[in-house]
Amino acid sequence: CGIVGYIGHREAYPIVIKGLKRLEYRGYDSAGVMIYDETIKVCKTKGKVVQLEELAQKEIDTKGTIGIGHTRWATHGVPNDVNSHPHLSNSGELAIVHNGIIENYAPLKEELIKRGYVFHSDTDTEVLVNLIEEVQKKEKIKLGKAVQLALNQVVGAYAIAVFDSKKPDEIIAARLGSPLAIGVGEGEYFIASDASPFIEYTSNAVYLEDGEMANINLNKSIKIRKIKDDSLVDPYIQELQMN
Ligand code: GLU
Repeated sequence: CGIVGYIGHREAYPIVIKGLKRLEYRGYDSAGVMIYDETIKVCKTKGKVVQLEELAQKEIDTKGTIGIGHTRWATHGVPNDVNSHPHLSNSGELAIVHNGIIENYAPLKEELIKRGYVFHSDTDTEVLVNLIEEVQKKEKIKLGKAVQLALNQVVGAYAIAVFDSKKPDEIIAARLGSPLAIGVGEGEYFIASDASPFIEYTSNAVYLEDGEMANINLNKSIKIRKIKDDSLVDPYIQELQMN
């Protein structure tokens, strides 16, 4: 399973698709993308990345300079189109890709259903994106803060990338127990499970440590903080060796 994300000035779709192919070695049963260009566009399917490409060509306009993509190794819910990532929140405003397991998803889901949330998939991930939405709406806070508060209610493992169409210059990334690297380019950022999807575009990378989250904002330098106590961490930008 793998995650790819892009925010910058290039077309995101080819970068995300090529990146997902580079991560194929990690193993997966489904694949999906979200591309943002004024609106959120999602295409996902059980099967290989080439099948996703065929479908995306037919089903969505792939234009847009922000994108996230996923290859899924099903843990909660069978491998099918609906359970594939990205998952959207009930409002349709938030999109998430997630590698890992939200262990306490069942009580969280129950609580959200009581508050009127509807679930379309059987995944733990759809619970997380709606929890983030609920926290954001209740506290009237920005996405980064909402992701942080939501993750503090979660037990499990994750590498996530979250996008909010109300604030489309930003992607929030976080990790605990699953790997996540951020490529830092000129006016562009890459997110991936390892550096292979972005090494051809930039040799500068930040590897998130367990328990860290990153605000990846197109117009600002990258901000990394500890999910637990909100303390800021100096981003350590490594130079990748291109062999
Ligand atoms: N637990 C999530 C699911 O089953 C993510 C699995 C993965 O890491 O790909 O959808």
